[in-house]
Amino acid sequence: MLITCPYCGPRNVSEYTYQGDGNRTRPDPASTDQAAWNEYVYDRLNPAGDHHEIWQHSGGCRAHLRVTRNTLTHVVTEVSFARDAGHRKSERHRKPGAHA
Ligand SMILES: [Zn+2]
Repeated sequence: MLITCPYCGPRNVSEYTYQGDGNRTRPDPASTDQAAWNEYVYDRLNPAGDHHEIWQHSGGCRAHLRVTRNTLTHVVTEVSFARDAGHRKSERHRKPGAHA
């Protein structure tokens, strides 16, 4: 699997470290809403198809990237800097039976 780093170009996945689900939205740190914190800490999507993920180019420039990867084919369709994803609205969509 190749991931194209915006700085370094196409590199093998062995140069990257998976950092987690790219769809999570951290609740306000002052919030005491336990349901929101439980969802943030424990709930993970497991889609069969396109999934937004955070990867770090740990064997290269060390940039954190937001990668759209198809979980069935491992084809990467989009890569951007994770810092640029902060303004995006949450893209969480739960569908019954979407868990593989
Ligand atoms: Zn890089």
